Amino acid sequence: MLGTTHIVGGLVFAYLFQVPNYAIPLAVIGSVFPDIDLKFTYYIPPKGVKTTLWNTHRGITHHPIIVLALFVLWVFLEKNYPKWDFYWNFLYGFWVGYLSHLVLDALTYKGIPVGLGYHPRFSFRLMKTGGIGEKIILVLLIAAFGGLIYLKSKGIY
Ligand SMILES: [Zn+2]
Repeated sequence: MLGTTHIVGGLVFAYLFQVPNYAIPLAVIGSVFPDIDLKFTYYIPPKGVKTTLWNTHRGITHHPIIVLALFVLWVFLEKNYPKWDFYWNFLYGFWVGYLSHLVLDALTYKGIPVGLGYHPRFSFRLMKTGGIGEKIILVLLIAAFGGLIYLKSKGIY
C-alpha cells in the first residue's frame, strides 16, 4: 500500500474508532509509521540473505504483536491514570492509525507477518501494492471519508 492510501485509511479508521479531533494527527502518523522500516531494512534482501522479521520491509513493524502491545499499554494507562485521559488519547489515535496500516497491508498479496519469523504471513490476497485494486480501495476510502465527514457535520455520527 502507498502512503496516500494509508493516510486516507488512517483518517477513515480515526472517525470509525471515534478518535477525538485533537488526536487525529497522531492517527495519521500511526497510519504511515510502520513503513519506517523502508529506511533501515532491505525492500528485497539480496540473494543468500535469509529474510527475517528484522531485515525486511513488512517485518517486525508490521507485526500484529505491536498493535496488541500498543493497545495493552493504552488500556493500562487509561485504567491506572484516568485523569490523564486527554494525553492517552494521543496514544489511542496512534494505535488506531497503526491498526489501519496493518489491515490495509493485509489486503495485499505480500500480507503481514503473524508468527515468529518473516513466515508465516497473513493476507486477504485481494490486490497488489500500487495496482488497480489499490486504486479502487483508495477511491472507496475517500468516499467513506467524505461520507463520514458529512454524517458528522449533520450530527448523525
Ligand atoms: Zn506497510
